[in-house]
Amino acid sequence: MTQKNNTERCDGCGKATNLKDTLGNEFCEDCLELAVAIKKKPETIKRICSLIKSDLLNNQDNDSHCKTTKIRDLPEVLDAVRFRTRDRELNTWYVSVSELEGNPVEIFASTAFDRDDQLQSRISNLTTITRLVSLILRNVFLGEVLTLEKTIKQLHRSSRQKNDLPDMLTNVLRSYEREMEMPTSVKE
Ligand SMILES: [Zn+2]
Repeated sequence: MTQKNNTERCDGCGKATNLKDTLGNEFCEDCLELAVAIKKKPETIKRICSLIKSDLLNNQDNDSHCKTTKIRDLPEVLDAVRFRTRDRELNTWYVSVSELEGNPVEIFASTAFDRDDQLQSRISNLTTITRLVSLILRNVFLGEVLTLEKTIKQLHRSSRQKNDLPDMLTNVLRSYEREMEMPTSVKE
């Protein structure tokens, strides 16, 4: 788990605060505590649900993803393979692929010319591709759950200048973000 000092939104409750990575998600402190409890004390959670007459566990079948895919945390240290390649205008790019048990789980690209103004928009487009492909690879090989919010977050982080392509897509997709559900209070 790595701590992130940013003010992006929690994948659990949507609050903008400091976030911590876990199982490919970024959670606030409250949601992290819940996530750890749900993972480490499922029997206690079940018992508490029945004690407070919560129907939380009655419609589990809607969310079969968690059951069918074994979700794994991305280790702190991964093997990476670096490829040197060229685009059609003969710019040299370095593409690094992080591997876990022989599977590609993340992909990055960089160039020696990243101060070159002409390349700024191309870099942000390539960053967009590699961030989104990494999100998909983590879904395929690690079972990380995909959400609209995570997609937008990766697009937003790919932007290097206002109104570049990823920034433009971020703004369009943000209009589809629904307000996260407010926590319902327990009836006494
Ligand atoms: Zn949260």
